[in-house]
Amino acid sequence: MPMNRIQFQAELSLPEFLDRYGTDENCEEAVEAARWPDGFRCPKCGAHPHSVFRKGTRKTFQCSACRYQCSLTAGTLFQNSHVPLRLWFLAMYLLSQTKTGLSTLELNRPGKRGGCLVEVKRQRRLAA
Ligand SMILES: [Zn+2]
Repeated sequence: MPMNRIQFQAELSLPEFLDRYGTDENCEEAVEAARWPDGFRCPKCGAHPHSVFRKGTRKTFQCSACRYQCSLTAGTLFQNSHVPLRLWFLAMYLLSQTKTGLSTLELNRPGKRGGCLVEVKRQRRLAA
Protein backbone atom coordinates (compact mmCIF):
# COMPACT_ATOMS: atom_id res chain seq x y z
CA MET A 1 0.00 0.00 0.00
CA PRO A 2 1.49 3.37 -0.97
CA MET A 3 2.21 5.83 1.81
CA ASN A 4 -0.39 8.55 2.27
CA ARG A 5 1.62 11.77 1.78
CA ILE A 6 -0.99 13.88 3.56
CA GLN A 7 -1.05 11.67 6.64
CA PHE A 8 2.74 11.69 7.03
CA GLN A 9 3.50 15.31 6.14
CA ALA A 10 5.42 17.36 8.66
CA GLU A 11 3.31 19.32 11.10
CA LEU A 12 2.93 23.02 10.57
CA SER A 13 3.29 25.23 13.63
CA LEU A 14 0.92 28.17 14.02
CA PRO A 15 3.67 30.72 13.20
CA GLU A 16 4.59 28.69 10.08
CA PHE A 17 0.92 28.47 9.11
CA LEU A 18 0.49 32.24 9.52
CA ASP A 19 3.63 32.87 7.45
CA ARG A 20 2.20 30.76 4.62
CA TYR A 21 -1.53 31.51 4.85
CA GLY A 22 -1.88 34.57 7.08
CA THR A 23 -3.24 36.87 4.36
CA ASP A 24 -6.04 36.54 1.84
CA GLU A 25 -3.46 36.93 -0.94
CA ASN A 26 -1.47 33.93 0.35
CA CYS A 27 -4.65 31.87 0.52
CA GLU A 28 -5.66 32.93 -3.00
CA GLU A 29 -2.27 31.79 -4.28
CA ALA A 30 -2.75 28.43 -2.58
CA VAL A 31 -6.25 27.94 -4.02
CA GLU A 32 -5.04 29.00 -7.47
CA ALA A 33 -2.06 26.62 -7.36
CA ALA A 34 -4.29 23.75 -6.23
CA ARG A 35 -6.96 24.49 -8.82
CA TRP A 36 -4.71 25.21 -11.79
CA PRO A 37 -1.24 23.75 -11.09
CA ASP A 38 -0.17 24.51 -14.68
CA GLY A 39 -1.70 27.99 -14.68
CA PHE A 40 -5.23 29.14 -15.41
CA ARG A 41 -7.15 27.11 -17.96
CA CYS A 42 -10.58 28.33 -19.09
CA PRO A 43 -13.25 25.92 -17.79
CA LYS A 44 -15.34 26.62 -20.90
CA CYS A 45 -12.88 26.40 -23.82
CA GLY A 46 -9.61 25.22 -22.22
CA ALA A 47 -7.49 28.19 -23.36
CA HIS A 48 -4.64 29.51 -21.19
CA PRO A 49 -4.41 33.23 -22.11
CA HIS A 50 -6.39 35.31 -19.65
CA SER A 51 -6.62 38.53 -17.70
CA VAL A 52 -7.17 38.91 -13.97
CA PHE A 53 -9.24 41.49 -12.13
CA ARG A 54 -11.24 41.92 -8.94
CA LYS A 55 -14.99 41.61 -8.82
CA GLY A 56 -15.73 42.88 -5.33
CA THR A 57 -13.26 41.06 -3.15
CA ARG A 58 -12.94 37.98 -5.36
CA LYS A 59 -10.11 37.42 -7.79
CA THR A 60 -11.66 36.82 -11.20
CA PHE A 61 -10.14 35.41 -14.39
CA GLN A 62 -11.36 36.27 -17.87
CA CYS A 63 -10.48 34.00 -20.77
CA SER A 64 -8.86 35.94 -23.63
CA ALA A 65 -10.28 33.52 -26.21
CA CYS A 66 -13.98 33.32 -25.27
CA ARG A 67 -14.30 36.09 -22.62
CA TYR A 68 -15.69 33.61 -20.08
CA GLN A 69 -15.33 34.92 -16.53
CA CYS A 70 -14.56 32.62 -13.65
CA SER A 71 -13.86 33.58 -10.05
CA LEU A 72 -11.05 31.86 -8.22
CA THR A 73 -13.50 30.19 -5.85
CA ALA A 74 -16.25 29.27 -8.35
CA GLY A 75 -16.93 25.55 -8.12
CA THR A 76 -14.94 25.20 -4.90
CA LEU A 77 -15.87 24.84 -1.25
CA PHE A 78 -15.53 28.62 -0.92
CA GLN A 79 -18.02 29.51 -3.65
CA ASN A 80 -20.75 31.95 -2.52
CA SER A 81 -18.97 32.61 0.76
CA HIS A 82 -18.33 36.15 1.90
CA VAL A 83 -15.97 34.93 4.59
CA PRO A 84 -12.35 35.83 3.81
CA LEU A 85 -10.21 32.91 2.65
CA ARG A 86 -7.72 33.48 5.51
CA LEU A 87 -10.50 32.66 8.01
CA TRP A 88 -11.49 29.51 6.12
CA PHE A 89 -7.85 28.45 6.07
CA LEU A 90 -7.44 29.22 9.78
CA ALA A 91 -10.55 27.19 10.64
CA MET A 92 -9.27 24.26 8.53
CA TYR A 93 -5.87 24.51 10.24
CA LEU A 94 -7.42 24.48 13.72
CA LEU A 95 -9.70 21.56 12.80
CA SER A 96 -6.73 19.56 11.56
CA GLN A 97 -4.51 20.13 14.59
CA THR A 98 -6.20 17.86 17.09
CA LYS A 99 -6.56 14.10 16.84
CA THR A 100 -10.06 14.26 18.26
CA GLY A 101 -11.17 17.13 16.05
CA LEU A 102 -12.48 20.44 17.19
CA SER A 103 -16.05 21.23 18.07
CA THR A 104 -17.82 24.29 16.76
CA LEU A 105 -18.11 25.32 20.39
CA GLU A 106 -14.32 25.38 20.67
CA LEU A 107 -13.99 27.22 17.36
CA ASN A 108 -16.42 29.78 18.70
CA ARG A 109 -14.59 30.34 22.00
CA PRO A 110 -12.91 33.73 21.59
CA GLY A 111 -9.99 33.29 23.96
CA LYS A 112 -8.77 29.82 23.13
CA ARG A 113 -9.01 29.49 19.33
CA GLY A 114 -9.34 33.07 18.26
CA GLY A 115 -13.12 33.08 17.89
CA CYS A 116 -13.15 31.87 14.27
CA LEU A 117 -16.89 31.37 14.14
CA VAL A 118 -17.54 34.70 15.83
CA GLU A 119 -15.50 36.34 13.07
CA VAL A 120 -17.26 34.28 10.37
CA LYS A 121 -20.66 35.37 11.71
CA ARG A 122 -19.47 39.00 11.88
CA GLN A 123 -18.29 38.82 8.26
CA ARG A 124 -21.67 37.37 7.21
CA ARG A 125 -23.48 40.26 8.92
CA LEU A 126 -21.24 42.80 7.19
CA ALA A 127 -21.81 41.14 3.79
CA ALA A 128 -25.62 41.02 4.20
ZN1 LIG B 1 -12.40 30.38 -22.78
